[in-house]
Amino acid sequence: MGDQPETSDVIVLGGGVIGAAVAWRSAQRGLRVTLVDPQTDAGAWRAAAGMLAPLSELHYCETGLLRLSLESLERFPGFVSELTELTGVATGFRRCGTVTVGWDGADLAGLRDVQAFAQQLGLDASMVTGRELRSLEPALATGLPGGLLAENDHQVDPRLLHQALLAAGALEGVVQVRGTAEVVARGGRAAGVRLSDGTQLGAGTVVAAMGAWTGGVGGVPRDLLPAVRPVKGQTLRLRLPGAPRLSRVVRGVVRGSAVYLVPRADGRLVVGASSEEAGYDASIRAGAVYESLRDAQTLLPELGEAVLEEVAVGFRPGTPDNLPIVGPSGLDGLLLASGHYRNGILLSAITADGVADVLSGGSLPDVLEPCAPGRLRQVASA
Ligand SMILES: Cc1cc2nc3c(=O)[nH]c(=O)nc-3n(C[C@H](O)[C@H](O)[C@H](O)COP(=O)(O)OP(=O)(O)OC[C@H]3O[C@@H](n4cnc5c(N)ncnc54)[C@H](O)[C@@H]3O)c2cc1C
Repeated sequence: MGDQPETSDVIVLGGGVIGAAVAWRSAQRGLRVTLVDPQTDAGAWRAAAGMLAPLSELHYCETGLLRLSLESLERFPGFVSELTELTGVATGFRRCGTVTVGWDGADLAGLRDVQAFAQQLGLDASMVTGRELRSLEPALATGLPGGLLAENDHQVDPRLLHQALLAAGALEGVVQVRGTAEVVARGGRAAGVRLSDGTQLGAGTVVAAMGAWTGGVGGVPRDLLPAVRPVKGQTLRLRLPGAPRLSRVVRGVVRGSAVYLVPRADGRLVVGASSEEAGYDASIRAGAVYESLRDAQTLLPELGEAVLEEVAVGFRPGTPDNLPIVGPSGLDGLLLASGHYRNGILLSAITADGVADVLSGGSLPDVLEPCAPGRLRQVASA
């Protein structure tokens, strides 16, 4: 971590994927940026699978999130190739496509509904039969009745992406400071931050990008705190010897519980994920490991032979309407960039561009307008 500057144009609180991306993009605009984080490996990105999946994550009524996700996905190839060019770090971005497998007739009917909805929105989604599924992914269990193919849902490796973002930021002059911080408000506006050792750092603007911890950011009036809560998730990292068994991301619902398998180019598989309202309890829950393995092995029988290398726990920053919270906080000088819930890796590209636009004197892109923090205050006070 570098020397602490007394003042910066921007202090970003939280060096997860969102904070690191915002810091990098802002420094590229010529702003003096300081990035503050107590640990560099506590973020949800460590557990995240890295699916870039607007369509496969599609839920009815979430068309605002869909538009945002599609816009971010469109920016992703440029985002990651710029990062790799600058830093030499490959991000594991792969245009691999995703197939969501049905377990029985009822699942297939549900997937057909999603396909019809997706097509109404002009998205490329096609149903595949059981036979077609086997020829796409021969390692999958026999007898699966079919699924939904989303050719444009891809993946990135969040750990590599995060490493590249920090490195790119450092190259653009972002100063990294290790510490837990709270906002310092003076004269009705955010004037900087105070680290836990008492050091104060001044800034023109503070950006709170502390993921699941943003709801408790210190120094901010209670009524302006964003409604972000931690949603615990566990992912497993496994390795099967020999060639990769899957060429696409495979998702499915097995006896009512959702599971996914994300194949990395090196043969590893990321399997996930639990979703638990358990506060900040970071302990590994055996039942969640069992359920993920059981369901994943039902889809990919060979998984029983795999080496279980790691169980990772992370906290998704959840919001009441599943949309991120991005934009002016209501306290002058404080912007929020949080609440990305299940899609923070995917949404890092658009969020970083949008926040950097605001920090350099512009306005948020239209597609981020539904994410304005004020929407939740209005709902709360209605
Ligand atoms: C199991 C799991 C699977 C997921 N899979 C996907 C996926 O496939 N695709 C996808 O797009 N998204 C996925 N996500 C979601 C994604 O990981 C998150 O939305 C994203 O990481 C949020 O990024 P963030 O930077 O806001 O928060 P984080 O990455 O959590 O980073 C927050 C940072 O803030 C720091 N911090 C906390 N308090 C303070 C403080 N007081 N001062 C300074 N710093 C502080 C923390 O140390 C941390 O480094 C997944 C998440 C989980 C848990």
